[in-house]
Amino acid sequence: MKQHLLNLSLSELAAHFDTWGEPRYRAEQVALWTLRKGAKSFEEMTDLPRTLRSRLNNEFTITSPPALDTQTAHDNSTTKVLLDLGKGEAIETVRMDYDPDSNRIEGRSTICVSTQAGCAIGCIFCATGQQGFTRNLTAAEIVAQVLYFTRERPITNVVFMGMGEPLANYDAMLRAIRWLVDEQGFNIRQRGITVSTVGLIRPIERLAKEQLQIGLTISLHAPDDELRRYLIPNAGNVTINALLETGTKYQQATKRRITYAYALLEGVNDKPEQARTLAKTLRGRPIHVNLIPYNPTAGDNLRRPKPDRVLAFLREMRIAGINTTVREERGIEIAAACGQLRTDMLDNSQTT
Ligand code: SAH
Ligand code: SF4
Repeated sequence: MKQHLLNLSLSELAAHFDTWGEPRYRAEQVALWTLRKGAKSFEEMTDLPRTLRSRLNNEFTITSPPALDTQTAHDNSTTKVLLDLGKGEAIETVRMDYDPDSNRIEGRSTICVSTQAGCAIGCIFCATGQQGFTRNLTAAEIVAQVLYFTRERPITNVVFMGMGEPLANYDAMLRAIRWLVDEQGFNIRQRGITVSTVGLIRPIERLAKEQLQIGLTISLHAPDDELRRYLIPNAGNVTINALLETGTKYQQATKRRITYAYALLEGVNDKPEQARTLAKTLRGRPIHVNLIPYNPTAGDNLRRPKPDRVLAFLREMRIAGINTTVREERGIEIAAACGQLRTDMLDNSQTT
C-alpha cells in the first residue's frame, strides 16, 4: 500500500527527495501544494517536473478521509464533521468560530481534532471513553481534520480535545503538531495549539522537552485521588500531586501556563466543599482552572449541575484566589462540544 505523504515530516520528505537526486526545496513545494493550495493529487502540482509527479504518485498518496456527514449550528458558529476512516470507523472534528468582538479582538477559528478512534481511558462521563478503544490515528489523519476546514476559512487555533487521548498516541500527535506549526506547513502560531490530556506523566515530560510553546490542559475532574480514580478508571495510579508537579515542570520548560479542566457532574464533584479542597490543593501555583459543566451523553445517569451550582463552585474557587472560568458553550444544539463526540451523531439523522 502507498504511504501517506503527511505521515512523513518535512525533513524526512526532504531526505527522501535527496535519495531521488531531487533538491530538498521540492519537499517544501509539495507541502505547500498539499496543505495550503488544497491539491488533491500530485498531478495538480504543476511546478514539479512531470516525471517527479508520477514518481510521487507511485509511492505516496495525499488523499483525505471523505466526510460522511456535517452539522452546523443555527448561528453558523459551530460546524461538526464526521470523517470516514474506512472499515466502519469514523471520527469527528469540530470547528468553532469566534467573530471579532467589541474590543476588536481578532476573529478566531478553532478546530477541535481527534487523535484516536475511541479511547482506552474510559472516563465515565465521556462518550468516547464509553465506546472503548479501536485504534490510533495516523499523523496524516490528524492533519486531514485541519485540512478539511482550512478550505473554508483560515484556522487560528487547534485544540487536541476531540476523541481520544493525544498523549497515548504521541508520535502521530507530534508529527501532526509539526505540520501545523511549521512555516512550510500550516504556519499556525505555536501559542494557538493546545493539547488536552488526562494526565500521562511521562509523555507530558517528553512534550516539555520538544522546544514547543504549545498550551497544555490537564483534565483533573476531582479534588482527591479516590474520586479521580472513579471518574477516570484507566489512567494508572497517578496522583493529583504528581500531576501538579509535572504540570509545573511543563510550565517552567515552556513558559506556558497550565490549564486544569474540571468537568462538573451534579452531586459527584460539584459541591462547594469540593471546590474548597480543590482550591487548597492548587493554591500557590500560577495555573488556570476551566470548569466544564457536564454535557449529558446518552446511556448513563450522570447529570449537569444547575447554573447556580456552577456559579457557587466558581465563586468558591475565586474567593480562594484561583484563576477560574467556566467554558463557553458552543453549538450546543448540535452537541458539538468537544469531548462528546460521534455517538450521538450516528443516531441522529438531522443533517445539513
Ligand atoms: N483525552 C483528553 C482530550 C479529549 S477530551 C482529555 O481527557 O483531556 C477533552 C475534554 O472534554 C476533557 O477535559 C474531557 O474531560 C472533557 N469531556 C469529555 N466528555 C465530557 C462531557 N460529557 N462533558 C463535559 N466535558 C467532557
Ligand atoms: Fe479518553 Fe479524554 Fe474521554 Fe477520558 S475524557 S475517555 S481520556 S477522550
